Amino acid sequence: MIGTLLIVSGPSGSGKTTLCRRAEAAGLTCYSISCTTRPPRPGEQDGIDYHFLTPETFAAKVQAGEFLEYATVHGNSYGTLKADIEKLLLAGKNVVMDIDVQGAASIRACTDDIIRKAYADVYIHVPAAELEARLRGRRTDAEEVIQLRLHNAAMEDARRGEYQFALVSADKESDYTRFTALLSTLGMRTCLA
Ligand code: 5GP
Repeated sequence: MIGTLLIVSGPSGSGKTTLCRRAEAAGLTCYSISCTTRPPRPGEQDGIDYHFLTPETFAAKVQAGEFLEYATVHGNSYGTLKADIEKLLLAGKNVVMDIDVQGAASIRACTDDIIRKAYADVYIHVPAAELEARLRGRRTDAEEVIQLRLHNAAMEDARRGEYQFALVSADKESDYTRFTALLSTLGMRTCLA
């Protein structure tokens, strides 16, 4: 029995990282740690939040074919290491991946048998006014970064129809309840046997 690979997308401020991390802390899933070239935010740790790489190291991994997918998001490179994901799925672990719409599209197109069987995706949607309030409330980003994220959110939202599931964000508890219900249902798919 292989694990479920659940791709979770949604704009910054949708709470998708919190959902993924909370499910991991509850022992329901493993969290896929992405590589990125963006600098760490205050409190973020290398190897826990991301593998923080230089642009040169990231490019070398692209060349070596180590990424299941990679994309440029908000001007920085992000990618997921293929070997890490496959190892976990084959060990029967559920994996959640917090990635953008481009990354989700490339994994959806992946022909690898294990990835195809394990694959599922959900888009976390937040109404625009609520999203802006959340981004301003977290006080980690400069105004131009907030504007860029709002612009990108509108573009990402336009692609939510590509996803199998959509979770319209309400409050944290309700979001988490629905998220774990989805994970549990996905684990019952006969294709995982
Ligand atoms: P942040 O810099 O705020 O942590 O993440 C910015 C965006 O990059 C988010 O939409 C997040 O889902 C996306 N992201 C994080 N890791 C990956 C990855 O490995 N691949 C792709 N394609 N996007 C990622």
